[in-house]
Amino acid sequence: MDAHPNTAGSQDLDALVVGAGFGGIYMLHKLRNEQNLNVVAIDKAGGVGGTWYWNRYPGALSDSEGFVYQYSFDQELYNDNPWTTKFVRQPEILAYLNGVVDRYDLRRSIQLETAMTSAEFDESTGRWTVRTDTGDTYTCRFLITGLGLLSATNLPEFPGADRFQGQIVHTGAWPADLDLTGKKVGVIGNGSTGNQVITATAPVAAHLTSFQRTPQYSVPAGNRTLSPEEIRAQRENFDVNWKQVRESSVAMGFVESDRPTFSVSAEEREAIFQRAWDEGGGFRFMFETFCDIATDADANEEAAKFIRGKIAAIVKDPETARNLTPTDLYARRPLCDSGFYETFNRENVTLVNVKENPIAELTETGVRTADGTVHELDVLVCATGFDAVDGNYKRIDIRGRDGELLREHWADGPTSYLGMATAGFPNMFMILGPNGPFTNLPPSIETQVEWIADTVSDLLPAENGWLDVDPETEVAWTETCAEIADATLFPKAASWIFGANIPGKKRTVMFYLGGIAAYREILGKESSNGYPGFLNQSASELA
Ligand SMILES: Cc1cc2nc3c(=O)[nH]c(=O)nc-3n(C[C@H](O)[C@H](O)[C@H](O)COP(=O)(O)OP(=O)(O)OC[C@H]3O[C@@H](n4cnc5c(N)ncnc54)[C@H](O)[C@@H]3O)c2cc1C
Repeated sequence: MDAHPNTAGSQDLDALVVGAGFGGIYMLHKLRNEQNLNVVAIDKAGGVGGTWYWNRYPGALSDSEGFVYQYSFDQELYNDNPWTTKFVRQPEILAYLNGVVDRYDLRRSIQLETAMTSAEFDESTGRWTVRTDTGDTYTCRFLITGLGLLSATNLPEFPGADRFQGQIVHTGAWPADLDLTGKKVGVIGNGSTGNQVITATAPVAAHLTSFQRTPQYSVPAGNRTLSPEEIRAQRENFDVNWKQVRESSVAMGFVESDRPTFSVSAEEREAIFQRAWDEGGGFRFMFETFCDIATDADANEEAAKFIRGKIAAIVKDPETARNLTPTDLYARRPLCDSGFYETFNRENVTLVNVKENPIAELTETGVRTADGTVHELDVLVCATGFDAVDGNYKRIDIRGRDGELLREHWADGPTSYLGMATAGFPNMFMILGPNGPFTNLPPSIETQVEWIADTVSDLLPAENGWLDVDPETEVAWTETCAEIADATLFPKAASWIFGANIPGKKRTVMFYLGGIAAYREILGKESSNGYPGFLNQSASELA
């Protein structure tokens, strides 16, 4: 039942998968290879891999440990995968995903350089019509979007940008041939990506200027080569490890602590933080040390104080140390690094605090800050992040029942039921849609893809049947996500997790912070009870 993807024009499919990252690749495999459906995947990129196709900037590295930053659906694939370091570099992840595509013979069903520009649901036929920028049109019963939650780049506009003679690049659209060796480089942003670019580029650049918007808490990644015994243990413990991941909260491959911060003496606390600092890993530091760092302000301050102490000890210039030191909550996605704070001791690195001294404009030769200084640059790197979660959805005209536009449905912030479906858009399933789990992502992606595949399989016998979320269920899920988030400190820190990084974007909850174990249980109940959260005739047929 394979459709050949290379025919321009119109194709009628069982399912169209949009996006060929971790999510889209697995979705295509499930539906085409296991369910023998007529499926095509499209991606606007020139290659598969999603995040790992686009983000080729120097230093790009996973912050999930490699043994859980991969698929688990096929133990042989896992056994054959040669991760040899604790965290994994972008070229290796990209090669891995290309290998997966070849291993399961998926490439012939993937149409690259093809962007979905619009999608429209026809209630009378129960089918979607999807239009693309190549002129190809697809009609399909199931529209499955894996557009990525960190994929729609956020490029700030600066006065004078057209005058600048150097190159401006976003880390999420990195030109394959860009080499920063010997160049005068400016980096705007120092979140997860900026932290990696700055650390990797400073040793090769002629000069690096970091335009810092928000000081960040970061701990060492502790990346290292794994011993053959460690690699063997990861493979031999496949079942145990993945069971642990699925029964955990953040799915990072370690047991989250149940020890309150103030249940131990100050000396013991210091020793626990020090051990975590020495071992490395941002998620481990936040969730493996104590159970209340993300929920209790006083506990949070203990962790924050420890990291501030490290910054003071590492950074030699007091003014630079002051600028690098955060004073707010330690409640963003936890960062880890390969020598970030140490980088600011280098002679060829300058820190500009743009909160105190904002960027005024770009000139022909660089960036002029409010104090009048022109920072001479060959390349300006925007590590300015993404319009996270719903960014790509808002850029497309997606019309559901009664012609409703998705971006209007989400005018007050993106919502969903289970992070996968939204009311009025039947048979459209989103991988990593809004209010899905906030975890190490491959296990959540697998959970969602498997649930969607099972749901598609349940729906198939009901001819032209579709599932549409009950609007009340969607409101209730959004409230659940907000309640869980409000019990944590995360909403109190300005972060992309709540949309705070995009000017004008409404701050709303965008993740389910209840953990992967609870999430999986909810999904299981939803399908085994006949989809009670969805409203329509096919739902009763499925019961
Ligand atoms: C630098 C970086 C590091 C990260 N590190 C980690 C990590 O360590 N651990 C972790 O859990 N997560 C990490 N993430 C998150 C990462 O995005 C996910 O782990 C995972 O790769 C998401 O896979 P995906 O398939 O859902 O989306 P993506 O990989 O983002 O793929 C989405 C695809 O959809 C395509 N697309 C979008 N719009 C359209 C359209 N209109 N038409 C056609 N195609 C379209 C895009 O081109 C893209 O290829 C990181 C993200 C970034 C940016």
